[in-house]
Amino acid sequence: MNQYRADLHIHTVLSPCADLEMTPVNIVNRAKEKGLQIIGITDHNSTKNSLLVRRLAQKVGIFVLTGAEITTKEEVHCLAFFEFEDQLKRFQQFLGDKIIFIPNPDGHFGYQPVVDDNDNIVDLILNYLPAALKSSINEIQQEVEKLNGIFIPAHIDRPSSGLFGQLGFIPPDLKFDAMGISSYSSEKHVQKHYFIPKEITLIRNSDAHYLNQIGEIYTVFNIEEITFQEIKMALNRMDDRFVQLVE
Ligand SMILES: [Zn+2]
Ligand SMILES: [Zn+2]
Repeated sequence: MNQYRADLHIHTVLSPCADLEMTPVNIVNRAKEKGLQIIGITDHNSTKNSLLVRRLAQKVGIFVLTGAEITTKEEVHCLAFFEFEDQLKRFQQFLGDKIIFIPNPDGHFGYQPVVDDNDNIVDLILNYLPAALKSSINEIQQEVEKLNGIFIPAHIDRPSSGLFGQLGFIPPDLKFDAMGISSYSSEKHVQKHYFIPKEITLIRNSDAHYLNQIGEIYTVFNIEEITFQEIKMALNRMDDRFVQLVE
């Protein structure tokens, strides 16, 4: 089994709350500098910069999980990742159909550019992307499962936008591959404080909005080789694959 460093929660410039320096080119360079081998691209309710990050990262040997950070109807943030472009496009369509439309034409909430590999803006999204979807956490999980994706409630212990802060409990019928904890929390603290059974895999990521945050927090994946399926297996602790948080 081999060990790989992963930071699965990184925003690009497409997120209105992210720094304008978070372009795909800069993110890949920084991830390389920090020795990351796996990164997840998770803009708020949009996958539109993630494929470019994947393309650029491939050239320097970094594996990219392409996806998004979804705001559910309950305002719980969840990460979703997809292996193939076709699934990603179908999920993008779902996000576009379900998001509550809040105009952001003048960048009042921050600009939301889709960029190219020269950092040029190719599109500017004019509705506020972090807005909630009209779908519940369970409905979104089911959509992700239909597309064979990975589903991870994000920063579950964060007072706002985390599962416990918003709902107060784990819905008994909710399926997920793992749960994310805040960059500032420890696995032990979260398990104890929220009565999380040991069978649930916890991961910790940077939730980077600025370049210097990328890879500051990471999770180690113990897998045979880096593939989408191996990562999914590690999250579900299948066939001796597992993840380790770095304290
Ligand atoms: Zn979040
Ligand atoms: Zn985030």
